[in-house]
Amino acid sequence: MTFLIHTYGCQMNVRDSDLLARRLRAAGFAEAATEDEADVVLVNSCSVREKAEEKAIGKLGMLCAARRDRPGLVVGLTGCMANRLGPDVFGLVPGLSFSVGPRAAGPAVVSLVRRALDGAKGMFVPDPDGHTVERSNGHTVEQPDRPTVGPCDRVTAKDDTAVSSFVTILYGCNQRCSYCIVPSVRGSEESRDPRAIVAEVREEAARGAKDVCLLGQSVMRYGRMGFAWPEDIPSPMGFAEPLPRLLEFVAREVPEVRRLRFTSGHPSGVTDELVRAMREIPAVCPHLHLPMQSGSDRILRDMRRGYDSARYLAAVRRLREGVPDIAITTDIIVGYPGETEEDFEATRALMRKARFDNSFIFKFSPRPGTPAAQMEDDVPAAEKERRNQVLLADQDDLGVANNALWIGREVEVLAEGPSLRNAARWSGRSGQNKIVIFDPPPGIERGDLIRVEIGRANPQTLFGEPRGAIGRNRLLHVPVPLVGSHNLC
Ligand code: SAM
Ligand code: SF4
Repeated sequence: MTFLIHTYGCQMNVRDSDLLARRLRAAGFAEAATEDEADVVLVNSCSVREKAEEKAIGKLGMLCAARRDRPGLVVGLTGCMANRLGPDVFGLVPGLSFSVGPRAAGPAVVSLVRRALDGAKGMFVPDPDGHTVERSNGHTVEQPDRPTVGPCDRVTAKDDTAVSSFVTILYGCNQRCSYCIVPSVRGSEESRDPRAIVAEVREEAARGAKDVCLLGQSVMRYGRMGFAWPEDIPSPMGFAEPLPRLLEFVAREVPEVRRLRFTSGHPSGVTDELVRAMREIPAVCPHLHLPMQSGSDRILRDMRRGYDSARYLAAVRRLREGVPDIAITTDIIVGYPGETEEDFEATRALMRKARFDNSFIFKFSPRPGTPAAQMEDDVPAAEKERRNQVLLADQDDLGVANNALWIGREVEVLAEGPSLRNAARWSGRSGQNKIVIFDPPPGIERGDLIRVEIGRANPQTLFGEPRGAIGRNRLLHVPVPLVGSHNLC
């Protein structure tokens, strides 16, 4: 029996899909190369923007229609849409085998798939914290297993070799930003136990991961709610706050992981301790994703972000002063209800001051049940698109300026493998999470750390020559300097 998982949305969904795949593999299922070859297709969905939901519904509809020719095909929905739609999804997608919330999915997926293969349809398992609509509409609504620690507790499989991996440390979100559906579909904040996190990071390291990103929707809230740091886990570096303590603990316990990251940040979490942790724990990367959303104080207040532009900028300055060579990336929403040209210009101005290394720009999308969806979505689609394009161009200018500063410098790159554009060259990432393209020196393997001297840059990518590698804990010397001896792709 074979399966395929389609993943929409954020890194948390990527992680959840990875863990679902491991559970299915551990139960004897094999991964299919294409949909046509799969006996089971899962759609791991995202509710953050309407477009993502439309794509998932379209995909599910096509898959269920394919059942006319392949009646045995199992089609399942997981992710945020399962919680948002509840059993109503079976009305939207007739023939769907099951729908299961993101936190209930891990423990339930194998049994749901098996029952669906036996012909069951319309099974619904909400997430365990009960925020899901309580309607059955004639469908089987099951009690999820309780308690869960996420989709996967401890499942090992040796069949994927990614050098980078994600580990969720904080479920849900309590921030309730006015535009965001995440708190209602992912539930309230719950921090995981540090030992469970270390166990999972260790497992990722055993599978070959050298770069692990710790995930939480508002990750700096880790350990701030209904949680006490275990007294028997000391902090030799003298940290008192949970996130710096966790970073120190993971770095100490799993030294095979050469790079540790965490995302997404919030200005309120950029404390002196966190900055010190980023500077002094060698494994912690000099990179932070710090969503800004807007540069207008009025819009930030309406969004309920909990900071204004001055506080945001102060956090950026603290990071830049305290963490050498840090890269800061962000999320920005354009066309929020009532966003005027003046508000938009304030966003452009704050972007320039923050000098972002990369920005992800989103056009406002009203989400059911959120306060912003009650407001008039009054910025026309064409104007949202214009603002989107303006910010993308602004970010390109910032990317050119920021990346030019790397020319002539050596960066440490985690080698990921042949470049997608030119397989003769390799691609990897710097600690700043910048893509670096280089000629592979003899003997290099995925997961090696290699030093690359940067010769050229564009807004998104650095290009350079290998100078030596610290691979598998030893230094690999590159015999012949390759300066000028190849074409940069
Ligand atoms: N938890 C992170 C944070 O606090 O910023 C990110 C959560 S969300 C999955 C990722 C990004 O989607 C947000 O930072 C925001 O820019 C964008 N987003 C969320 N809701 C949106 C909406 N209704 N319309 C457009 N973009 C949205
Ligand atoms: Fe959504 Fe705000 Fe929570 Fe991020 S912090 S997930 S934007 S509510």
